Amino acid sequence: MQLTILGCYGPYANHGNACSGYLLRGLDNHSLMLDCGSGVLSQIPDAFPLDKLDGLILSHLHADHCADALTLPHLLQFAEWNQGRDPLPLLLPDGPENLASYFFSNPWYDAMAFDEYQEFIIKHWHITCMEVRHPVPTYAVRIWHEAEPGFAFVYTGDTNIHPPLVQLCMNADFLLADAAILLSEWSEGYPHMSASHAGGLASFAKVKRLMLTHLRPLADPQIYLAEAGKLFLNVEIAKPRMFINMSTAR
Ligand SMILES: [Zn+2]
Repeated sequence: MQLTILGCYGPYANHGNACSGYLLRGLDNHSLMLDCGSGVLSQIPDAFPLDKLDGLILSHLHADHCADALTLPHLLQFAEWNQGRDPLPLLLPDGPENLASYFFSNPWYDAMAFDEYQEFIIKHWHITCMEVRHPVPTYAVRIWHEAEPGFAFVYTGDTNIHPPLVQLCMNADFLLADAAILLSEWSEGYPHMSASHAGGLASFAKVKRLMLTHLRPLADPQIYLAEAGKLFLNVEIAKPRMFINMSTAR
């Protein structure tokens, strides 16, 4: 499975970059988009085979994770490859109601609401979700693809520490984790966990590889890396336009 970072900043992006948006690509070349925050569509390489995009998952309905999902229907409307195709499968939380209703009523999407512990199947992708801790309904997802059944990828979405996440992440090959802040900024009521907590989660869950994401654009990545690295060695930081062949990293 491959991962392309379309955007990794939050809660806003600086010049030329984007907020949360990730493309997973299976061994059959089909892809799944995770989050589609502000600026994400502008970061999709022209050569990327969007005609093999199987679906979109929105972890939650904050603008840094879903703003460009409001304009994606226009891409679908005008793209030559999409003419005559079925609506794009979309998995998302059913709230907040004002935004969710846009997605559930948009004819370019075939929208389904997350349901805790239910396994969703989009083409050959298998998705298990878990509601996490953020001010709006937010879900972490564990994903595997039928072309590579032994490989498990987990994305935490945005969340404060949430002990059941260890179970969702257990033995995953690759964990993409919210690390929006440092431990010194963290509090029980904060909407995000820290780089240190992400390292702890990776360690408890015995994942093979950890990638930190959702940094503020001007944050110094090395400080976050050092903080998470105290608890988990195989850690790196998401960078814009990064491409990772995750299967070879096992
Ligand atoms: Zn966010």
